[in-house]
Formats: sequence, structure tokens, C-alpha cells
Amino acid sequence: MKVAILGATGSIGGSALALAEAFPEYIEITALTCGRQVERLAGYVTKFRPGLVAVGGEAERDRLRGLLKDLGSPAPEILCGEAGQVAAAVESGAETVLSAIVGGAAMAPTFAAVGRGLRVALANKESLVMGGELVMPLARQTGAEIIPVDSEHSAIFQALGGQLNSQGLRRIILTASGGPFRGFTGKQLESVSREQALAHPRWSMGAKISCDSATMMNKGLEIIEAHHLFGLDYDRLDVLVHPQSIVHSIVEYLDGSQVAQLGPTDMRLPIAYAFSYPERWPLAEADRPGLAGLGPLDLAEVKFQGYTGHLTFERPDYETFPALNLARAAGRQGGMAPAVLTGANEAAVNMFLEGKIEFSAIVRIVEKVLEGSPVRPVEDIVGAIEAEREARRLAERFAGEMYKTS
Ligand code: NDP
Ligand code: MG
Repeated sequence: MKVAILGATGSIGGSALALAEAFPEYIEITALTCGRQVERLAGYVTKFRPGLVAVGGEAERDRLRGLLKDLGSPAPEILCGEAGQVAAAVESGAETVLSAIVGGAAMAPTFAAVGRGLRVALANKESLVMGGELVMPLARQTGAEIIPVDSEHSAIFQALGGQLNSQGLRRIILTASGGPFRGFTGKQLESVSREQALAHPRWSMGAKISCDSATMMNKGLEIIEAHHLFGLDYDRLDVLVHPQSIVHSIVEYLDGSQVAQLGPTDMRLPIAYAFSYPERWPLAEADRPGLAGLGPLDLAEVKFQGYTGHLTFERPDYETFPALNLARAAGRQGGMAPAVLTGANEAAVNMFLEGKIEFSAIVRIVEKVLEGSPVRPVEDIVGAIEAEREARRLAERFAGEMYKTS
């Protein structure tokens, strides 16, 4: 299978390339992309020999050229900017595109891959949040298969027997780890640091999604993602906190029966399934490079915070983590509201990661941007991208005002 990996230098990208190393008989890499980490990309290019590569800008393109020359590696075609990312998605001959760029920057290449009718292994949730009302109908039109990589949505997809059709379902229950601040009070959240926010108890992920897990905005975005993927109303999408992150999500049928998917806490599994679907590759069996640390799940041996063999469940604390209800409300509102939500959130998270604002300001800023943005329908992808960018600008302005007066 010919695969293009967008966001190859990230956490998901690295897991996908581990799979490419483990299963060269299944995966041929035709394109790799990144933003700024060209040193890492150069290593991957040398190893996997894609024909097409795209990086953030011209400076990164020139640096990558130089690095590949120094390494004595034959240079692929190197493109840059958004147009380069789009070309990597649709011009490399890939049949499957892994969308693993973080944030709204994934929108244009993901939309292009869907428009071309390719299989899209979708890790990036922001694109579906921004443009779900356009992306899903486009996929139906072009025959593009959107296979979720996000572990919860992969779990639901698997629990449904490998389909996106939710007929006969009473509800979907998205499990959430609760993040590093589960059990904290609102007051305690006021003094948490960047390091604490990034120290996820169960998953090793990129900085933005780790921070989203800490505010629980990640689960909020996932509610909207599930709404679009599975076509279920918001009142049928529930959240259940499950700190061990072994039950990846649950579907409940009209008779009350619940079907769940369980697995190790490792993104190589949902990525592999999005590639191999409807087949399954022997991840738990093979002794191969790229599969280190993976093996069959032994529930009796699950260890978490001093307990062994315990799986526990609790309700989310909606008061301490208002991002959940904020996202749900934006999803219900529809139109541009989810694009505004994710744009404002991305800007606020970036400002927090850069040390410009406090953790507790993130969700306050998102709320303020939503309140200050006009309610408009989503007409086209350009409009969704523009609404997201405008929300980022507004978030930066509000943050500036908040920190000037305080
Ligand atoms: P990382 O921050 O680890 O990686 C992000 C990737 O996107 C990097 O390769 C980065 O390149 C690239 N990138 C960022 N901006 C641009 C840009 N403007 N143009 C091109 N490439 C860009 O993120 P993750 O791998 O953790 O997450 C990726 C996506 O998958 C996110 O949307 C996240 O929500 C989703 N996801 C992740 C999970 C996880 O376990 N990590 C689980 C479920 C979903 P560079 O670093 O070179 O600048
Ligand atoms: Mg998830």
C-alpha cells in the first residue's frame, strides 16, 4: 500500500513510521511532510526514500536540501507551504494519506485527499471539527474512506464492526483519561505549570493535544469529531472518565447492550488498523523492529497509580473542566462555531505553551472568542479556514487585553 504521511516528525508520524519499518511488505512511503523539524525529516527521507517531501517554508526547504546533500542521500522533490502539503497528499501516488499534522494547518491537505477519493487515516481532529459539515458529504461524493485514527473513534469504528453507520445505536460513550489534572479543583488549576500540563499520565503525545487533554478540550473536540464521523446527535454522545485508558470507547445499542474495544495504550494500534482495515496486521505477534513494547494486553496486569488489574470509571467534572460543555455547545450551534472554537483554542494553547498566559486562561479565552464571533453557516472550506484564522487573531487580542489590565 502506498502511503503519504503528513506530519511525519510528530508523535503520530513517528508511530506510523515505526509501522512502516515493521511491515515493509505492506507499507511503501510515497510522501513525507513536516513543518520545521527538518533534521528529523532528513533521517526519515534517507530511510524510507519517498519521492515527494513537503516542509513548512522556503528556509526549511533549503535546509533540508543541504542536509540530504551532506548525508549523500538522493534528493526527492521538495515542496513547501500549504500548497506543498496539499501536493504531498494528492500528487505522490499514495492510496492512503495519514493526516497527522497538528491543528488547523491539516485542513487543506486533508480536504484535498478526501476530494481525490483517497483513503484518509484521520488522526487530525481539528479538520473534522472545522469542516465536518463539508468533509463528510464530500467523502460520500468521492468515495473517500475516512478511517479514524483517534483512539476513541477507532474504538467506536471497531465496535461497530468497521463502519461509520450508527443505526440502532442508543448512544456512544467516549472514554477519557481525565488528563493530568483529574481530581483537581478549579482553584488548584490556577497555579499549574506547563510541565504539569504536558505530563499525561497514560499517553505520550504532542504538546498541543497533551495540553488539550489537560483542559479536557480534547474530549470536547472528540465529541464534535464523533458527531460528524458517526452521524449521531449531541445528546447521544456521552463522556466517561476511565483513567487507565484501556477501554478506548463504548457503543450502546437500543437494547442496552454495550460493546467496547479494549487495547494497549499505544497509538500504533489504531494507526495500523486505519491502514490495514478491513484486515488486521499481527502487531501483538510479530517480533520486528518498530513494534518494541507492543504485545497482547493482559488485563490482570494493568498497572495504574499503585493498583494492578483495576479498570475504573467515573463521571467527568463538568464544573472544573468547562471545555467539555463549551465544545458541546459549539457543536450544537454548528456552522462556523466549531471552527471558531478550535481556532481560538489552538491560539490559546500556543500562548500557554509559550508562557504568555496561564493554564486557566485557555478556556476563558475560547469562551470569550465564541461569544464575540458572529454565528454564520459554513459555506465552503475557504470560509471555514478563514473563520478559524480570525478566531486565532481574536484569541490573541483578548489575551493581550486580559494581561494588560491584570
Ligand atoms: P505533534 O505536535 O507531535 O506533531 C505535529 C506534526 O505536525 C509535526 O510533524 C509538525 O511538524 C507538523 N506540523 C505542524 N504545523 C505544521 C504546518 N503548518 N505545516 C506542516 N506540518 C506541520 O502532534 P501529534 O502527533 O501528537 O498529533 C497530530 C494530530 O493527531 C493532532 O491533530 C492530534 O490532535 C491528533 N491525535 C494525536 C494523538 C497522539 O497520540 N499523539 C492521538 C489522537 C489524535 P514539525 O514538528 O516538523 O514542525
Ligand atoms: Mg483521542
